[in-house]
Amino acid sequence: MPTYPFYCEKCKKTFELNLKLSEYDKKKTFQCPKCKGTKVRREIAAFQTITSKKS
Ligand SMILES: [Zn+2]
Repeated sequence: MPTYPFYCEKCKKTFELNLKLSEYDKKKTFQCPKCKGTKVRREIAAFQTITSKKS
C-alpha cells in the first residue's frame, strides 16, 4: 500500500497515510492522526517537483 504525504493546517505538520490509490482518489476528506482534524491537504505536488530539478 503506498504512503501519501499530507499537511495538517491545525498542527502545522506533515504526516503520512497509507492508502489504496482508489481510496486516495475517491476520498475528499482526510483526518489528521494527531488532532483528528480534517483540515488537511495533500502534499503530493511537492513530492513530484523534487526530481524535476535540472543541474
Ligand atoms: Zn493535526
